[in-house]
Amino acid sequence: MNRLQRLRATLAEKGLDGLLVQKPENRRYLSGFTGSAGVLLVTARGAHLLTDFRYTEQAAAQAPDFQIHRTGDGGYVETLVPLLQQEGVRRLGFESDYVTVDAHAAYQKALGDAGVELVPAAGLVERLRQIKDPEEVAAIRRAAAIADAAFQHILGYIRPGVTEREVALELEFFMKRQGASALAFDTIVASGPRSSLPHGVASDRVIGRGEFVTLDFGCVYQGYCSDMTRTVMVGEPDEKQREIYEIVLTAQRLGVEAARPGITGRELDAVCRDYIAQRGYGEYFGHGTGHGVGLYIHEEPRVSQRGETVLEPGHVVTIEPGIYLPGWGGVRIEDLVVITETGAEVLSQSPKDLIILE
Ligand code: ZN
Ligand code: ZN
Repeated sequence: MNRLQRLRATLAEKGLDGLLVQKPENRRYLSGFTGSAGVLLVTARGAHLLTDFRYTEQAAAQAPDFQIHRTGDGGYVETLVPLLQQEGVRRLGFESDYVTVDAHAAYQKALGDAGVELVPAAGLVERLRQIKDPEEVAAIRRAAAIADAAFQHILGYIRPGVTEREVALELEFFMKRQGASALAFDTIVASGPRSSLPHGVASDRVIGRGEFVTLDFGCVYQGYCSDMTRTVMVGEPDEKQREIYEIVLTAQRLGVEAARPGITGRELDAVCRDYIAQRGYGEYFGHGTGHGVGLYIHEEPRVSQRGETVLEPGHVVTIEPGIYLPGWGGVRIEDLVVITETGAEVLSQSPKDLIILE
């Protein structure tokens, strides 16, 4: 079944006559259209893409399975109502985790008059997106390879005296030169005591000797994200730094070894979490072990204490335990893996043993 057929099966199961799709990643996944404005209407037989003058030509080229409708000053609603009537839609799902209160009110007003019921239907396309097909995995693999190359490159750039922001800029420039279209998220470069901030976006702090530097970054290739973290030392580590690094590395390796079909996100999270707790640092690992990655940087399935999803071949997830000691610093190591029939293929190829830069 192709993507539209799978969505239609879901709609039938939920008793919906159609679905409005507005999230950019969902729109792209179903139609191929990459423009910044547009709405899809998918029904049992129809597939429509509503967009404005700026995008009609691009939409026709990118979304051959969709009928393209150009919207006017009245916006989507004006174009949508006759389409819904033509398709006989009575119950219309919408992305209730995305549509604003104002947009919902506008839809409600116009569609209520036309006898169409709006039904909250969050997550239907996201559920389809969880399992990646080989083309999607290939794009993610390439995005991960670009990040790996950037890590190798940045090792020759990090030294005492450069700022976190300079490191982040150099990573960005390198990845874009290698073919990345964008960053997957704001690059995290957290040095010294700032490395205890799990999401310490690069600042003007000058990197000094004897410090950890945590680099968490990724790029977008053909719409798909990569995500990796490495923590390196500038200068010789002391005993405590070695200890914390070794614990996180062991936890991360145990996680990668445990990743396979049949394990739930929660069970995989527990592999890393229990090890860190057993070594006495459980309270300093306060985030989930990982998350799904695809068209969006954080998607299903979650690898966390709330991860109910059973992992299957085609799931792409991160494994990224860490330990963060306030005022002292922290370590995180993150790989991107794709679940296979027998285990997991690690897409992040960068070395994980502690790298000491002079
Ligand atoms: Zn990351
Ligand atoms: Zn991540």
